[in-house]
Amino acid sequence: MSPTPIPYENLKKLNEPFETLFTQKFASFLSRGWYILGEEVALFEREFGDYHQQEYVAGVANGLDALILSLKCCAFKKGDEVIVPSNTYIATILSILHCDLVPVFVEPDLNTYNIDPKQINAAITDRTVAIMVVHLYGQCCDMDPILSIVEERQLKLIEDCAQAHGATYKGKLAGTFGDFGAFSFYPTKNLGALGDAGAVICKSEADYIQLKQLRNYGSEKKYHNGIVGYNSRLDELQAGFLRVKLPFLDQINSHKKKLASLYLEHLSNNFIKPVVAESFDNVYHIFNIRHPERDRLKAYLLENQVLTEIHYPVAPHHQKALKEMNGHSYPISEEIHSTTLSLPCSYANDENQILQVIALLNQFK
Ligand SMILES: *Cc1c(COP(=O)(O)O)cnc(C)c1O
Repeated sequence: MSPTPIPYENLKKLNEPFETLFTQKFASFLSRGWYILGEEVALFEREFGDYHQQEYVAGVANGLDALILSLKCCAFKKGDEVIVPSNTYIATILSILHCDLVPVFVEPDLNTYNIDPKQINAAITDRTVAIMVVHLYGQCCDMDPILSIVEERQLKLIEDCAQAHGATYKGKLAGTFGDFGAFSFYPTKNLGALGDAGAVICKSEADYIQLKQLRNYGSEKKYHNGIVGYNSRLDELQAGFLRVKLPFLDQINSHKKKLASLYLEHLSNNFIKPVVAESFDNVYHIFNIRHPERDRLKAYLLENQVLTEIHYPVAPHHQKALKEMNGHSYPISEEIHSTTLSLPCSYANDENQILQVIALLNQFK
């Protein structure tokens, strides 16, 4: 038994170091009395852009909307196909469905959990218009072969970066490879707000202008609506909180990387650990292992007061919401979903806790 429970995540504790700054931010927000699309949103967009050395960033309401509005910008036709990994969080796939497009699943690589570039060509048809990659668990996809396919086939590239703030591939940041980089700042993400928030990085000024219209009723100027838009604005107060945390993103990532390195170094080989090649810098949004007796392992850790999660317990093609895919078989995705277990690796966890988790795991029989 570990003496005190080890949480998987603790948002209160994670945000404690920023509380004084949050309080100051809220006080200045109150005194300004400007609640929607004000200077905090504009400044966060600029600072998030500076972090990525990108000019165009549009804040939106959440990560799902960041993906939907990116697709909307592309003006694809109903029934056009978008290639997407068969193992991802359901939001990625929902964005495609909400735009009347058809998701075409490509299996991941069993070592990296990310879309297998070698299998993409076989999934391309004459209706394929885009590839939506997901940098899952905090590690970038293998982008070079994907970029060659995108260029050769003249496809749009959209990156789901909800789990990869600050992750790099060959030194280049997630969200800067594609036409669009879609981010979520859901509270548990590596850069997390105190509520819902999201953003899109895009490459062209035209897309940027369109994104800003789409998020605000399609309006180019107050009460003048050029396109059929949405209400998907990044909240002014959340933008203020995100500005407080952005300068600490690299520190948050370093902490998670340090915890992950303890697991990688000390966990026994009874567990399948994440494989990270040299040209990738994983920010470990999620630190997962795999084990054939995952459920028994999870129960054993719980008995010993260690909380874990499963990302994800049900593969997208087995979800009731995706009825038309229920009959399909994606064995690699199924293998991951039935064996994966996410271990504590939060900014709110300390090294001592991780060493306790490792000791318990290494005693598992
Ligand atoms: C969290 C997440 C999303 C959705 O973000 P929200 O802000 O919750 O809408 C999309 N894709 C992935 C991979 C995610 O992890």
